[in-house]
Amino acid sequence: MSLLRVEGLEARYGVSQALFGVTLEVGAGEAVALMGRNGMGKTTTVRAICRMLPSRGVLRFDGQDLHRLPSHRAARLGIGLVPEGRRCFRDLTVVENLLAAARPGPWDRAKVAELFPRLEERSGQVAASLSGGEQQMLAIGRALMTNPRLMILDEATEGLAPLVRAEIWAALGQLRDATEMALLVIDKSVRELAQVADRAVLLERGETVWSGAMAELTPDVSERYVGV
Ligand code: ATP
Repeated sequence: MSLLRVEGLEARYGVSQALFGVTLEVGAGEAVALMGRNGMGKTTTVRAICRMLPSRGVLRFDGQDLHRLPSHRAARLGIGLVPEGRRCFRDLTVVENLLAAARPGPWDRAKVAELFPRLEERSGQVAASLSGGEQQMLAIGRALMTNPRLMILDEATEGLAPLVRAEIWAALGQLRDATEMALLVIDKSVRELAQVADRAVLLERGETVWSGAMAELTPDVSERYVGV
């Protein structure tokens, strides 16, 4: 059974409709890439899944209808979000940021430190003083501390230097291999997504236009819908 099931999802910002029928599934422990050019609806899909935006259509997580739950309850079901723009509490230290997110489960401060040793070295620093890459690691660490069953990453490596990007992709690979956690990953780099994702879902103008195994995503298809 799929952990997350989205079917014919529609959403709008005021009078302007942004999603016209997004369909995607993420199975337990599976890693899925959500792709598409700028403005095609990836972030809006994530916001709808996290109930930050009203939507219509099928939206089920672990068998429960998310549309019937108040948004704060939906968050507690086990969806961890690493939002675009890596939002952390800038004036809190690394440890404080992590502890503020903590919920019971296998992921604790020690496990996050194992995954990102750099964060542990900077545990007493305020988030605002971290480099962009370290802030991104902190945002991922915070999501892990909530012990999600599905973690959604929206452009987790945007604007980062190649070495830091590689570190983050390696960490995501570890999460995929060593845990039962499912991943839904948005990124512009098809090559890097291919290292981590089992399947891909492609959006165009707010609609799913292709989905399949990552290995079946031909250069033709990715050129057409992702533009690389
Ligand atoms: P990007 O890669 O640039 O982040 P995206 O695929 O995530 O793009 P969305 O941010 O989901 O795309 O945008 C989908 C559509 O919704 C776009 O047409 C965008 O202009 C519109 N949109 C996004 N956010 C808002 C908003 N807050 N108010 C009104 N329209 C919005």
